[in-house]
Amino acid sequence: MQNTVAKVTVVGSGISGSVCAATLARNGISVTLFDSARVPGGRMSQRREISEDGRELLFDHGAPYFTVTNPDVLSVVTEWESRGLVAEWKSNFGSFDCFTNKIVNTEHQA
Ligand SMILES: Cc1cc2nc3c(=O)[nH]c(=O)nc-3n(C[C@H](O)[C@H](O)[C@H](O)COP(=O)(O)OP(=O)(O)OC[C@H]3O[C@@H](n4cnc5c(N)ncnc54)[C@H](O)[C@@H]3O)c2cc1C
Repeated sequence: MQNTVAKVTVVGSGISGSVCAATLARNGISVTLFDSARVPGGRMSQRREISEDGRELLFDHGAPYFTVTNPDVLSVVTEWESRGLVAEWKSNFGSFDCFTNKIVNTEHQA
């Protein structure tokens, strides 16, 4: 039996499918990535809305940030960082209170 995989289909372009497809492609395997959603990214994706007063609002639907401890994952994320796909978060975290229209519980992450 021939054990060389020539072509792989990955279903789902969230972080799991995307990393899987990228790893396969980096190892010389031809990959086709399918997703049933309108845009790729799964729960990494961002939605854009225009408010009634014309302002652009951006909503992260899943993971606005993540932390890394595993060295294998760190090497993947370091490569993303060098390509400008992710950046270290150096600002504040806070919650938006829709009743007061204010950002509350702001804290700085070191
Ligand atoms: C509100 C919220 C906040 C979160 N905040 C954080 C955070 O701050 N930090 C963090 O690390 N994590 C966070 N998470 C969790 C994180 O978003 C998810 O764990 C991660 O994005 C899941 O990735 P995934 O690839 O496993 O799945 P998904 O991102 O769900 O990807 C699955 C993809 O498969 C596609 N798909 C499914 N079925 C089919 C099919 N039959 N055919 C074709 N395509 C299909 C879907 O359309 C989707 O694009 C948050 C999640 C939520 C909901």
